Amino acid sequence: MHIPTLISRKREGGELSSTEIEKLIDGYTRGEVPDYQMSAFAMAVFFKGMTPVEVAALTRAMMHSGDCFDHRPGHPPVVDKHSTGGIGDKVSLVLAPLVACTGCWIPMVSGRGLGITGGTLDKLESIPGFNVHISLKDAAAQLDALGVVMMGQTDRFCPADKKLYALRDVTGTVPSIALITASIMSKKLAETLDRLVLDVKFGSGAFMQTKADAEALAASMIAVGKEMNVEVHAILNPMSEPTGRTVGNALEVIEALECLDGGGPADLRKLVLDLAEKIAGVSREKLESLIDDGSARRRFDQIVAAQGGNAADLPRLAEIHKAPIIREVIASAGGVISKVDAGLVGQAALQLGAGRAKATDGVDFAVGFDRLVKCGERIHAGQAVCRIHARTAVDFDMAEAMIEKAVKISEH
Ligand code: URA
Repeated sequence: MHIPTLISRKREGGELSSTEIEKLIDGYTRGEVPDYQMSAFAMAVFFKGMTPVEVAALTRAMMHSGDCFDHRPGHPPVVDKHSTGGIGDKVSLVLAPLVACTGCWIPMVSGRGLGITGGTLDKLESIPGFNVHISLKDAAAQLDALGVVMMGQTDRFCPADKKLYALRDVTGTVPSIALITASIMSKKLAETLDRLVLDVKFGSGAFMQTKADAEALAASMIAVGKEMNVEVHAILNPMSEPTGRTVGNALEVIEALECLDGGGPADLRKLVLDLAEKIAGVSREKLESLIDDGSARRRFDQIVAAQGGNAADLPRLAEIHKAPIIREVIASAGGVISKVDAGLVGQAALQLGAGRAKATDGVDFAVGFDRLVKCGERIHAGQAVCRIHARTAVDFDMAEAMIEKAVKISEH
């Protein structure tokens, strides 16, 4: 196969066959197609796009570049959800054990935080001992026992995506609908799913800034699902304010536990139920009862125990990860909260150390925000708009200035 011919054809807006795409990805994974040719190809796709059939072929090729889940005969429905990322998004921590309680299997392969977006794996690792490095063999055993596993991408899981995503990151080719679709869907479909729900975010704290872009991404992912015989649902959700009232790794786990215990913020519970309803195959009322009767919480504790943690640590997370400085930000005027800019709160969390600027950075589990006000709430001058958990006084001052910019209080 002559790679420059494929690149030129895509550059001119032509179509590649599924076999050509398969060979290109196979050659790239093996190291036979060099980065410079793949960069040129990615840029051609960025400008010219791909047809749904091409995107499905790319998804399939990346999915088969490594190992896929191979569920035992007679397995129950296998389902998952994917979120395109947001600020304070701890939905997976609640949804995975909840959906497992309905009898479905949920082999949730998640990622780490990058930039302002948090990652489920980082949040889980704030639980002492929690192991996200699970082999596909151990994942299969845990699915049989608990119906749920929460793990990271192994080296043998979509290696083509790992390589291509790193390349896109340094060649200005991340924001391509076709490439994002194939990247996300290859990882999710390698879980060998029957149903998938997508939480496609838009707004200041999201990957997709506009609703139109989010709609285009959702449509593209649904089309790939159709090509690959997987039932895919998408829900578009604004990410203008953070989800819930906490942002930061351990702080978000604490809030997820509140939700699993039947409390927590209303927007988090609603989002969990909206998404779970699409894949679980039971009614919303049944899902609510599985939270309120403690089943989902018990399942979460079982996940923690199965993956190396100790459920007895969960009520002590706030003490285990206690930041040296925990102080309120006080509103100087009263009124109604009209804005809590998720993008700015995410930036502030990143600068406090809750997130990572580069993939190789570590994260600080203890820092972030809690007790954040929500849009529409009324507050008085002198009341707190949030608490900042900071490592140093300098960090606190920086975060306080950013929160003052992020939170708008209107007179009415
Ligand atoms: N997340 C992914 O996994 N891949 C992309 O391309 C973008 C976001």
